Amino acid sequence: MRLKGKTVLVTAAGQGIGRAAALGCAEEGAQVIATDLNGDLLDYTGARNGGQIETRTLDVCDGAAIRKMAASLPDLDGLFNCAGFVHHGTVLDISDADLDFSLALNLASMLRMSRAFVPGMLRQAERTGTASILNMASMASSIKGFPNRTLYGATKAGVIGLSKGIAADFVTRGLRCNALCPGTIDTPSLRGRIAQAADPEAARRDFIARQPMGRLGTPEDLVPMIVYLLSDESRFMTGQAVLVDGGVTI
Ligand code: NAD
Repeated sequence: MRLKGKTVLVTAAGQGIGRAAALGCAEEGAQVIATDLNGDLLDYTGARNGGQIETRTLDVCDGAAIRKMAASLPDLDGLFNCAGFVHHGTVLDISDADLDFSLALNLASMLRMSRAFVPGMLRQAERTGTASILNMASMASSIKGFPNRTLYGATKAGVIGLSKGIAADFVTRGLRCNALCPGTIDTPSLRGRIAQAADPEAARRDFIARQPMGRLGTPEDLVPMIVYLLSDESRFMTGQAVLVDGGVTI
């Protein structure tokens, strides 16, 4: 029960990594607020520890909705900003609309969420000694470049910078902030990108080929690290970009 007594909010918890994180945090004893743009996906009926998961619809690009939610919730111990989108293409393929959308969803949303929830998390850290923000970055970021991931990598590099800035500002007040940098993970969005490729089978082979362990990661491969970074076990750790990439960056 590594998160017993803690309240943790997860964004994009309708499917993929966010959903696995919400389930993993509940399994470790947290009260979880699972949020997603698509409220229909937020069904935890029958899930183990599902009773500890409260669901709410939230568009992380909507600043007013974020502020309203922050005002309506108890002070958080943990915040996992998971929502993000993969733009495919080189710098020559990025339209103004693509640019605005990816910056808003991948980066500005995490800034808005932090701005809204940090005051309560600081209060909680004052009471308990610690609170933790975890922001979803990627190995495709300031860590490594990949073909057709310029816009994605730029936003995820921004996430690492945002996380370090928050970590530096609140390091003396018990609030920690880290960034998670996964390798390629088999999620609905990845399957969607594979399905859209001209040759889906080749696309899947290519994604697997860039993973030295010879397989894609699963959302569950990330859960132990997510729980660790949100828990007090990582209490001496802040401002880090943590790779869980199946060996890509060996
Ligand atoms: P996914 O498509 O499986 O799930 C994404 C979820 O985000 C969906 O439930 C969707 O409804 C929700 N969402 C979309 N727009 C939203 C918004 N405006 N507000 C709130 N929720 C919104 O995605 P995933 O593959 O699990 O990716 C989750 C995060 O992990 C993303 O930030 C992604 O960049 C990152 N990531 C994924 C991989 C990978 O290989 N899958 C690797 C590294 C990092």
